[in-house]
Amino acid sequence: MAAIDNLPPLREVIAEHGLSARKSLGQNFLLDLNLTAKIARQAGDLSGCDVLEVGPGPGGLTRGLLAEGARKVLAIEKDSRCLPILDQIGAAYPGRLEILNADALEVDPLAYLERPISVVANLPYNVGTELLVRWLTPANWPPYWDSLTLMFQREVAQRIVAEPGSKAYGRLALLAGWRADARIVMELPPEAFVPAPKVKSAVVHLKALPEPRFPADAKTLNQLVAAGFNQRRKMLRASLKSISPDIEAHLVTAGLKPTDRAEQISLEGFCALARVVHAHRTG
Ligand code: SAM
Repeated sequence: MAAIDNLPPLREVIAEHGLSARKSLGQNFLLDLNLTAKIARQAGDLSGCDVLEVGPGPGGLTRGLLAEGARKVLAIEKDSRCLPILDQIGAAYPGRLEILNADALEVDPLAYLERPISVVANLPYNVGTELLVRWLTPANWPPYWDSLTLMFQREVAQRIVAEPGSKAYGRLALLAGWRADARIVMELPPEAFVPAPKVKSAVVHLKALPEPRFPADAKTLNQLVAAGFNQRRKMLRASLKSISPDIEAHLVTAGLKPTDRAEQISLEGFCALARVVHAHRTG
């Protein structure tokens, strides 16, 4: 297959820099540049877009994003061993790659990027869910990003796109379904990565809705679905007790049965409850 750029193959780059993968940083690298370009294309036309990439590692996906025409890429990488490699990529794409040696949980991307913004990342498994929840639950909507194109372990991807009533349905599906359209756009076998993880992976594409499907305060909704699904076998009056001592009354006001379990409650029902709880708190 044709090379996507004039930079050396990733296997050579990794060997030259002695970049051994670290489990503690969730490092499973993609070395096939045709595959990373294909993942970049799942984000749509990037030519008029800035891109936030979390965890570029040795830069396979970064190269895919730049080769596919991203206007600018902000790559946030915690592992300083990757910086010399990323600098070489930046030199091949002058003015289009900004590299930050930082923890992505600590950075405000709006200080570096212009709208429209897409987020594209092969996420480290240890912070992937936390980042997704943060991207879905800012206080104001629409968010700074138009779409998220994210690689997860397949089981997590399935939880994000899960239908109500299915086993995988829970907090991630509720939050994703509340403010975005989410679908799985690619599945990848373990062998696509170095080192190969034990499980399959999948890319999820989430497109931000112009407004949430139902009104609700993001923080309250997130607390409710987290508590409700944390103890999913329990009745809501028990699993949500930590949210408010008056939870039983709030459930009734929201039109829900205190004896129902979280998995029996629709997105609309959770949003109604979030409105009641939030109104009570802000009185
Ligand atoms: N994008 C590369 C690829 O596809 O080959 C690497 C993906 S690897 C699954 C995840 C990357 O995220 C690693 O390079 C790791 O060092 C980095 N990382 C882990 N935790 C991070 C954090 N909190 N902030 C920024 N980067 C992080």
